[in-house]
Amino acid sequence: MAKRQEQEEARSEVTEVAPGVLRMQLPIQMPGLGHVNCYALVDGEGAALVDPGLPGTASWRALQDRLKQAGIRLKHVHTVVVTHSHPDHFGGASRFVRESGARVIGHRNFRFGLPAATTPEVSAEHLGEKPPAESEPPAGSPAPEKRPSGGFGPWTGPTPWGGSRPRPPFKQRVRWRMMRAFGSSDFVPEISDPVENGNVLRLARRDWFVLHTPGHTEDHICLHDPELGVFLGGDHVLPSITPHISGISSSRDPLASFFYSLDRVAEINGIKHALPAHGHPFSDLRARTEAIKRHHYERLDKIRAISRELGPASVEDISKKLFQPRSWGAMAESETYAHLEHLRLAGQAESHREGEKLIYSAG
Ligand SMILES: [Zn+2]
Ligand SMILES: [Zn+2]
Repeated sequence: MAKRQEQEEARSEVTEVAPGVLRMQLPIQMPGLGHVNCYALVDGEGAALVDPGLPGTASWRALQDRLKQAGIRLKHVHTVVVTHSHPDHFGGASRFVRESGARVIGHRNFRFGLPAATTPEVSAEHLGEKPPAESEPPAGSPAPEKRPSGGFGPWTGPTPWGGSRPRPPFKQRVRWRMMRAFGSSDFVPEISDPVENGNVLRLARRDWFVLHTPGHTEDHICLHDPELGVFLGGDHVLPSITPHISGISSSRDPLASFFYSLDRVAEINGIKHALPAHGHPFSDLRARTEAIKRHHYERLDKIRAISRELGPASVEDISKKLFQPRSWGAMAESETYAHLEHLRLAGQAESHREGEKLIYSAG
């Protein structure tokens, strides 16, 4: 399969993708993704950075290289905006607080931990599209290391549907563990300027409206500049892949939240530049939100058909019919569970427990 644009490796060039907005691609190693876009919003004092990449030196060095190309001095980065609580978006923020005294803007419910720590970035169907990181154990092999005592609760215990919890790739888990060992305060930024839906931010010499867009995570925000028709979409609306919607969520129905947030974005008129956190800029934001919704409606239809075929079945069994074998596992189960709960809460499915397992009928 040809590489999707979200899976392209980070390129070093800096491009102005909208007036006063620079796209800087940073390297990441996450399943299904090749880079994260950090956007610099430039003004007379310096710049605000939206989603400054993963923690760690590789990303920091790449970002310093891009800033240098753009003529932005480190000490002039006065603001960091984090669109949501995933490490490839907030990871660089704490270092800017230390080195330039930047304020950090994020949703007032910004939270890294359970469930965010367990969730991947993209739908399980895209996870098999890129070779796994070299030290990742082969599928089905036992975990290569023991959990340290006193930590990593998010990866332990049964799931709500009675299966094992999703596990991020081995290298990533080790990196996060090190960061937590060094102090989570340096890993997870403190949000100095919490925002909520409808707040207005002055960035790049103009006003941006904050949109709260729960779904991919509960704390996801997008920024909209109505003056020049610019939309900073984070992971909410990606150009060619669908973001992961986890069944392990503090929301009862994360898929309903995601639909609601897509509708909110589809209502916006006059977008010329939709700027995603992964992949290339695009312009037809409304069409993309509709395509993503259609994708999920098709998944819901497929689940109903599978349920008619299987009769009452576990989340694992339904997920194995819904996804290709390369995607099987806890991530696929988590997405299947989110869809099944969406059907159940809409009165279109029933569930009961058999031992540890939830059994669904959605015919
Ligand atoms: Zn994300
Ligand atoms: Zn992302």
